[in-house]
Amino acid sequence: MAKFEYAPAPESRAVVDLAPSYGLFINGEFTESQGGSAFKTVNPATEEVLSEVTDASAADVDRAVVAARRAHNGVWGRMSGADRGKYLFRIARILQERAREFAVLETLDNGKPIKESRDVDVPLAAAHFFYHAGWADKLEYAGLGTNPRAHGVVGQVIPWNFPLLMLAWKIAPALATGNTVVLKPAETTPLTALLFADVVQQADLPPGVVNIVTGAGATGQAIVDHPDIDKLAFTGSTGVGKMIARSIAGTRKKATLELGGKAANIIFEDAAIDQAVEGIVNGIFFNQGHVCCAGSRLLVQENIAEDVERRLKRRLQTLRVGDPLDKNTDVGAINSKAQLSRITELTAAGEAEGAQRWDNGCELPAKGFWFRPTVFTGVSQTHRIAQEEIFGPVLSVLTFRTPQEAVAKANNTPYGLSAGVWTEKGSRILWMADQLRAGVVWANTFNKFDPTSPFGGYKESGYGREGGRHGLSAYVTTESNG
Ligand code: NDP
Repeated sequence: MAKFEYAPAPESRAVVDLAPSYGLFINGEFTESQGGSAFKTVNPATEEVLSEVTDASAADVDRAVVAARRAHNGVWGRMSGADRGKYLFRIARILQERAREFAVLETLDNGKPIKESRDVDVPLAAAHFFYHAGWADKLEYAGLGTNPRAHGVVGQVIPWNFPLLMLAWKIAPALATGNTVVLKPAETTPLTALLFADVVQQADLPPGVVNIVTGAGATGQAIVDHPDIDKLAFTGSTGVGKMIARSIAGTRKKATLELGGKAANIIFEDAAIDQAVEGIVNGIFFNQGHVCCAGSRLLVQENIAEDVERRLKRRLQTLRVGDPLDKNTDVGAINSKAQLSRITELTAAGEAEGAQRWDNGCELPAKGFWFRPTVFTGVSQTHRIAQEEIFGPVLSVLTFRTPQEAVAKANNTPYGLSAGVWTEKGSRILWMADQLRAGVVWANTFNKFDPTSPFGGYKESGYGREGGRHGLSAYVTTESNG
């Protein structure tokens, strides 16, 4: 099917003011590293070097933790909830005021389409601060237990798929509950976290309440291992999550781990097929499929499978893949060369194991990291592409005959983060939601996020919840939970 021709509609990057290099944000100011080195962060759509960023050492992490402890004991931990709430409201408003700057920077550093960073990442990040600002003076009435109190200093390590949004998921509840923070953004996407440091200054937050240390895995490990961290919050791969759980076993540190997923998006024969096709596209091609809760396994009822596949492939041929800054782009660049290699390796395994590979045949830019929207049919449950998180724009299609078979296949995964159900029958939705071992079950929609709604997984998708009252509870101790 032919695509409409659109003239290019690039968003201007003039709104972003990039420094050639960045230090670490510790105790309210940017400082030089002590014994660390530097690395470059690139635009994955062009391979252009955007800036040079500090690879923080263990000594830097220690300085950040000391600053966070001082801020907690001296100011933030003693401040009234109402006053903390004012700072969070201020941060939320500044994020809204500087929304375009954040959206363009996120797209430059991450490769995601501007329409997603502009319409999803940044508004949701602001919404998280607004939501948690509202809780700051009401914690005693949130049903968390008797006398909720902050843990103290929280170490937070976040991934590259939603850099600003994951920062908001982590920092907003931590601050609302009176904790101070040392946060490490991912190596490939540090820039919006560093711009957030500027927001922290603009909001006049007391020094040391938020500290941002950039770096690679070793910096994250230094946060995890630091003896004066009270609680850890991690989002990323299950492999690293397990390492963190092992590192803190036997210590007093609390942790929440939000890890991988291999969600089933389940289409019943009575579903509204065209809407379901949109839901499939949103489920796996949103954010290039770099989404922990992506609907990466399509389970479609056997008697409509051919029809769904035909309509899906036709729809995928209309997706625009290319310049992430272009407002018409649907699918942007793969975040890094390493991630592209992983996707390439897993899709090759899919073919080798006998699944049928199809892609939308679109032209790809000559420079940068790109992968065509891809669909595998004839997938069986033992294939690696049905079991492992590909974290790219790749859909594996399986079929089922009965609701029981759909449930059995959907739950046949080490993960349990999310699932989607498409049917016209309300009773079936409720039955399915009850049977599916997934933290979030979407009905006749997919990838919908809201700060009021708890998010998190079962099994190897991690433990703890983020968002809503359940998310707050991870950031406090009470007389009942110690
Ligand atoms: P990681 O789990 O390695 O990265 C997540 C964060 O953890 C990053 O900030 C990373 O730093 C940091 N980190 C790495 N090693 C350690 C460590 N030993 N101790 C503490 N922190 C550490 O994910 P990858 O970026 O390597 O991606 C690999 C795969 O993980 C993907 O293909 C995807 O399948 C999955 N993934 C899942 C995510 C999810 O939301 N569920 C998010 C990201 C990835 P650095 O960036 O410097 O490596």
